[in-house]
Amino acid sequence: MQRFAMLYVLLAFWNTTMTHAGTPIVIAHRGGSGYLPEHSLEAKALAYGQGADFIEQDVVLSKDGIPIVLHDIHVDTVTDVATVFPQRKREDGRYYVIDFTLAELKQLHLNERINLKTGKRVFPHRFPAGKSSFRIPTLAEEIELIQGLNASTGKSVGIYPEIKQPAWHKQQGQDITPIVLQILKTYGYTDANHNIYLQCFDPTETRRIREELGCELKLVQLIGSNSWNDAGVDYDLMRTAEGIKSISEYADGIGPWMPHIVTGRDGDGQPIITDLVKNAHAAGLVVHPYTFRKDELPEYAKSFDDAMTIFCEDAKIDGLFTDFPDLAVGFLKTEQ
Ligand code: CA
Repeated sequence: MQRFAMLYVLLAFWNTTMTHAGTPIVIAHRGGSGYLPEHSLEAKALAYGQGADFIEQDVVLSKDGIPIVLHDIHVDTVTDVATVFPQRKREDGRYYVIDFTLAELKQLHLNERINLKTGKRVFPHRFPAGKSSFRIPTLAEEIELIQGLNASTGKSVGIYPEIKQPAWHKQQGQDITPIVLQILKTYGYTDANHNIYLQCFDPTETRRIREELGCELKLVQLIGSNSWNDAGVDYDLMRTAEGIKSISEYADGIGPWMPHIVTGRDGDGQPIITDLVKNAHAAGLVVHPYTFRKDELPEYAKSFDDAMTIFCEDAKIDGLFTDFPDLAVGFLKTEQ
């Protein structure tokens, strides 16, 4: 019996190491965006200095087809575009990145994100509005910053670009993905061993990146919520065991929303964890949920560290997107 007990312990250990290989990676979400305007190069340099493993780029195209780093297809929530180009809004009252050339976008100042409906800052305690001077970077400029820091520090920090709204870009007459892949290739990102994850919410496009465009980079299928009304995408289906299996045909990982993994606490105060991570690991996929924020914690988490404990130790994620890379890096260092 003792031998069986030993075997069981060994198998349990094997299982743990196989499904939870190493310390989770820290992905700086839009840079060190908890401290500086999101997607400014300053926020990226800060994230680098804070020890992030990967730094994220959301990528959209300018009117002249140049990939720039900005979260939305709109440019009005994070810049002064309405003041600089008041005549350039569309009929819906919004200002679109794709209506502006790179030279025009470079005239804008980046600021902390505003909720257009209320006119108020989304995170009121972050970097003060209108202070200092931040500009929109191109994808190439940002890669050169990170690769330059890798050269000067001897470290090896990765990039984590996201193709934003490929179907919308196509409606506007631009095929964003091949343009982005060409830039990545120019900077040496061509295969699965390179220090990059490429991510997209649109499953048709992520599959196309692998199967039609022949991309060999590590791919992450982002998973949103059906409540966000993304046209034609059923995220609920993607999160089923069958959906996860389908994703594993073309991707290396998933990027789910935090509520997809932990739904709250039970009557005993224990975190309620879904099967998503388990199913993803069984399908050979890594799991990198978004977004860990000290100023927007889930209601069941007492602190940033508490959220980290639940996701890293109980739910066994492989990495996480955070606006506060220093806090995640600090937590993981003390846990080792
Ligand atoms: Ca993103």
